Amino acid sequence: MIANYGYKDGAGDFFITIDTDKCDGCGDCVSACPENVFVVGEDPNDPLRDEPVAFVSDEQRKKLKYTCNPCKPDRNRPPLPCVEACKPRAISHSW
Ligand code: SF4
Ligand code: SF4
Repeated sequence: MIANYGYKDGAGDFFITIDTDKCDGCGDCVSACPENVFVVGEDPNDPLRDEPVAFVSDEQRKKLKYTCNPCKPDRNRPPLPCVEACKPRAISHSW
């Protein structure tokens, strides 16, 4: 399942997408993110799923543009820690 967390406003689309079919619940994104954006636990979109999965915390969903800003200083930004940490390549950002 493709799970999108974030929002859209006049400045653009600010979503983190997690491909839950690829996510193995390893928790590497939790360790890599300096802002505690990710949580690993019961899938909020699929309560019947037995395995833990990563999702974006409720607290962060409405402010991702600001939370992630330090990781994205400009267009030539370095690879994002969360994307780099996820070996199955389950994480992507819309901006
Ligand atoms: S690093 Fe990737 S595979 Fe591991 S919990 Fe996070 S999203 Fe899932
Ligand atoms: S871009 Fe930075 S702050 Fe945003 S989720 Fe990834 S590691 Fe965390």
